[in-house]
Amino acid sequence: MLLSKPFSPSMAFTSTAVGRRRRRSTAIHALDAAQSFDLEAQASDLLELRGRLKIAIVGFGNFGQFLARTFSRQGHTLLAHSRSDHSAAASSLGATFFSDPHDLCEQHPDVVLLSTSILSTAPVLRSLPIQRLRRNTLFADVLSVKEFPRNLFLKHLPPHFDIVCTHPMFGPESGKNGWSGLPLVFDKVRIGDSADRADRCQRFLDAFEREGCRMVEMSCADHDANAAESQFLTHTVGRVLAKLDLKSTPVNTKGYEALLKLVENTCSDSFELYNGLFMYNKNSTELLERLDLAFDSLKKELFAKLHDILRKQLFESPTE
Ligand code: NAP
Repeated sequence: MLLSKPFSPSMAFTSTAVGRRRRRSTAIHALDAAQSFDLEAQASDLLELRGRLKIAIVGFGNFGQFLARTFSRQGHTLLAHSRSDHSAAASSLGATFFSDPHDLCEQHPDVVLLSTSILSTAPVLRSLPIQRLRRNTLFADVLSVKEFPRNLFLKHLPPHFDIVCTHPMFGPESGKNGWSGLPLVFDKVRIGDSADRADRCQRFLDAFEREGCRMVEMSCADHDANAAESQFLTHTVGRVLAKLDLKSTPVNTKGYEALLKLVENTCSDSFELYNGLFMYNKNSTELLERLDLAFDSLKKELFAKLHDILRKQLFESPTE
């Protein structure tokens, strides 16, 4: 509900004084209660309004639209821009689509949120006419790697722009029933000193916190070290299993069903996303090598036992 006129503390004070006088008359108690309820509602509406942001989502594909659904429900004003024409999807999500980035920037969003594929982020950022934005716009991203966009932002954006790097560690599949308890990693890379700039960054992070996300503040470098172990490993195992073309059987165990689910979850993301996890996280190469070594060592262990048994049979069994 929008306020019909702006709320001010003096309105609250005046109305409270009037209310005190009215309390003498029992006949108008109900009216009094209704007024103070109305003031409370107005104050809470004001808080709601102050929390709202104008967010421009750049890269309105699978994940950009997934985020837009929740941001739109929270009452933020949404703008969208993408390489392809996603205007129909945007309007169904309550967002305004701009195919020309100049038009998008001229809307002066509070936050420009990059949700492009990792591989296309650098050219997309370079193509944005950032001179058309307000001087202290907040830049954010949701890329699944973090050191790369951090360094890109710091290199490309003038110092008067704020930067927060985030990674919602869930997707349209794992977050389809809500975001409660799901991790949101963030790093306030560069936020200006003033209270309103800190407040704007906080209001952006609140969009995740109010959905119940587990907020994890972590440096981009630490994120990438941890994510190689967790996320890249999970995607790699899922994609290796997908190559086996596994089928459901009449005797599925719980473990096997978990593997089938893993294949489904990881392969529903684009290969470009997986490729980005490899190309733009320096820890991923080492993880692949460790995985290779681990697989080899496991095979060696099995074959060594097999050889022992064969040798025993060859040398210890009575000859004819
Ligand atoms: P994606 O394949 O990583 O990215 C698709 C997006 O990138 C689309 O908006 C697409 O634009 C844009 N794009 C691709 N190539 C482009 C190019 N050459 N020039 C301009 N734009 C290009 O899939 P996604 O799932 O939507 O992920 C988006 C971002 O969110 C990625 O950085 C990913 O790491 C991150 N993320 C994804 C998940 C997830 O579960 N999916 C979770 C957390 C974070 P068009 O659609 O207009 O072609």
